[in-house]
Amino acid sequence: NDIILNVQSLKKYFPIRKGFFQRMDGYVKAVDDVNFYIREGETFGLVGESGCGKTTLGRCVLRAIEPSEGATLFRDREGQMRDLNKLDAKELRKFRRDIQLIFQDPYSSLNPRMTVQNIVGEPLICNKLASGEELRIRVRQLVEMVGLNSRHMDRYPHAFSGGQRQRIGIARALATNPRFVVCDEAVSALDVSVQAQILNLLQDLQKQLGLSYLFISHDLGVIQHISDRVGVMYVGRMVETARTEDLFMRPRHPYTEALLSAKPVPDPRKKVERIVLAGEVANPANPPSGCYFHPRCPYAQEICRSEKPVWRPVSEDHFVACHRAEELTLQGAQLS
Ligand code: SF4
Repeated sequence: NDIILNVQSLKKYFPIRKGFFQRMDGYVKAVDDVNFYIREGETFGLVGESGCGKTTLGRCVLRAIEPSEGATLFRDREGQMRDLNKLDAKELRKFRRDIQLIFQDPYSSLNPRMTVQNIVGEPLICNKLASGEELRIRVRQLVEMVGLNSRHMDRYPHAFSGGQRQRIGIARALATNPRFVVCDEAVSALDVSVQAQILNLLQDLQKQLGLSYLFISHDLGVIQHISDRVGVMYVGRMVETARTEDLFMRPRHPYTEALLSAKPVPDPRKKVERIVLAGEVANPANPPSGCYFHPRCPYAQEICRSEKPVWRPVSEDHFVACHRAEELTLQGAQLS
């Protein structure tokens, strides 16, 4: 399939101001020179520990936060790749209909004083896409599409369970008929059984509507279940991207290997050795030199301390930033 989103050397540095005169004291490199692409109709899972920059990256892609540098190329409806970071406010408004966000917390992301009709209808009114009876019909379609009943339309969020609220959030995100959706920890606040229902719903909607997803989660099991390809972030940098099975079975970055080794094993007879990393996660305001992972990496060598690893392909659809990616044989995880 064609690439719908191509992120190139994207950076987001937040200035840190400290001291008496509000002196600039450097930057937090929340997103640090990130590259990846997403194909039309696919789910790209983005995984990493909390604070690794994945939420900031998701917001930069939506331009809900302005990136500091880099390009976010998005395929428009005419098939042209456009750099979202170069669009003016008016052009960006047009693109916003195509790119939507499903929030993390279904409990706080819905306005408690608005009915389902108004919550789901709001983007249609704001974008002048429907009004009057047409609006009500479209909202009913959306509500039914996410598995709720049209009787629910005049109720308020407090009347619903967490899973139902997330369905309302999904209906709202789909109101403008988007082609690309960022799901930011979209199932993390839900019970495991409800998580499965919402994941299945997202997959059904993807097939039905041809959606592409950037699916952000700290949960490797969820990422493995839903993703066609996966990206792993560490301290603001993308360290590896690959097809899901490749990444889980044949990781090429030592951080991915360590992350996978901590995943619960479905069959305890097949042993995966748990890798316990030394030291703390690096501080993005004061990261180490060279490869950010070097103080914790069991395979680090001199070059790792001095030079930033180049982001490069190691096989088809498999990219890594590690000096030793070609020579190391790393342990994978079991596929559940
Ligand atoms: Fe480890 Fe060096 Fe690879 Fe970084 S570049 S992950 S320190 S081997």
